Amino acid sequence: MPETDGPFDCDTCDATVAFEDARRTKTMGGLDATKWQTLCCPNCGSRLQTVYVGG
Ligand SMILES: [Zn+2]
Repeated sequence: MPETDGPFDCDTCDATVAFEDARRTKTMGGLDATKWQTLCCPNCGSRLQTVYVGG
C-alpha cells in the first residue's frame, strides 16, 4: 500500500503538501472514484500520488 497520510513532496515545484492541503481529483484510468483519489499539488497542479480512500 502506498503511504496515504502525507506529507507529499511535489517533484515539480518542491512544495511539501500535507494530505489535507492536497487537491483531490478523480483518478485517470477508470478507477472507482469512491475508493481512489488522485492528490494534486495546490501550488502547481502536478499529480502527487494516487491514494486509496475507500477503507
Ligand atoms: Zn507543485
